Amino acid sequence: MRSDLKRVQEIITSIDVHSEDLFGAVVPPTFENTIYRYPDYEAVKQVAEGRAHRYGYSKNGNPTTEAVERVLAALEKGEAAKCFSSGTAAIYTVLLSVLEPGSHVITVKNVYGRTSDFLKRTFHKFNVQTTFVSGEWLEEFEEAIQPNTRLIYLESPTSWQFELQPIRAVSQLAKQHGIKVVIDNTWATPVFQNPLELGADAVIHSASKYLGGHSDLVAGVVIGPKTWISDLPQLGAVLSPYESAKLLRGVRTLALRMERHEQSALRIAAFLEQENKVTRVNYPGLASYHQYELAQSQMSGCSGLMSFHLDANEAGIRSFIDSLRHISIGGSWGGFESILYAAAMSGTEAEVTARGFGFTQIRLSVGLEVADTLLEDLHTALQLI
Ligand SMILES: *Cc1c(COP(=O)(O)O)cnc(C)c1O
Repeated sequence: MRSDLKRVQEIITSIDVHSEDLFGAVVPPTFENTIYRYPDYEAVKQVAEGRAHRYGYSKNGNPTTEAVERVLAALEKGEAAKCFSSGTAAIYTVLLSVLEPGSHVITVKNVYGRTSDFLKRTFHKFNVQTTFVSGEWLEEFEEAIQPNTRLIYLESPTSWQFELQPIRAVSQLAKQHGIKVVIDNTWATPVFQNPLELGADAVIHSASKYLGGHSDLVAGVVIGPKTWISDLPQLGAVLSPYESAKLLRGVRTLALRMERHEQSALRIAAFLEQENKVTRVNYPGLASYHQYELAQSQMSGCSGLMSFHLDANEAGIRSFIDSLRHISIGGSWGGFESILYAAAMSGTEAEVTARGFGFTQIRLSVGLEVADTLLEDLHTALQLI
């Protein structure tokens, strides 16, 4: 077995649930209660004075949520993790913890839409300025640094265009300037990329994608140094015990799922590259990808999300989409099911291109189905353009 998959599988298998109190249950119970009772006056006093740890109120700490946080921290090789009710809540909390009026941020122009909205609108109102760079070259970051730059926010690769940033070099540069580096690692997952090891200060995931993996959960997580994680602003956007249990279940099969996503995605990307109705494939796992070397140097593998451009007009795109029999039509990604979205579905050509998408661009999340079924589905639909 590959060393990255082996490591992840060992962490997952070691989820600590063998407490005597839990009757040896291999799956921990979900602690649904909001309030925890104390045995006496002294017990409360000890907690208040920091001499003992006890649960008190679920918003401030829950055993089920903490179990999944320990696993996610270990998977990302970080000290601590904090779960949130969505990836977006995790992103907002981290921005709030680092930025103050007058701060400057550098991020990538194809960063997740809500992240860019937060910076352009919410934080801009509080006098935070943002510089957007393509992110492919170190020099762009060097040139963008200002005396008030507090944060470099990466997302490598981005989730439509798949540009990578050189994480090691950018982190080194940031350190020299006392700037924090935070990275959205949703695409690669902790199986294929561990940015803390490459020098980043904190990692964010939308656990609604691969970590959950079953399209039945919205969740987010931040992983980083213990002191930073425990000092994060408490917005109250916590993950519920029930959702934590679902996340824990999703994570149990993470190594297995990622191995399958990668194998199928590689075959499909290679197939699409050969098709004459496909003009371009964006997938960092392809040897022909313009950042393949960088991908190899900072990731041990690739997940199942890619995009490609069709040689078609809108009618052609429509008949391609409507001819699919096994691949679903829809947004989001990272689940067990293959699902695909055409940029053209979201507006007129002018609107779509103004948002930075190609009008004929398609984004495909390769699921866990048998790859031959997906290849046949794509092959048939491409013939009908
Ligand atoms: C989906 C997504 C998010 C936001 O996560 P939610 O759980 O939907 O709030 C953040 N970053 C990336 C790259 C995403 O794809």
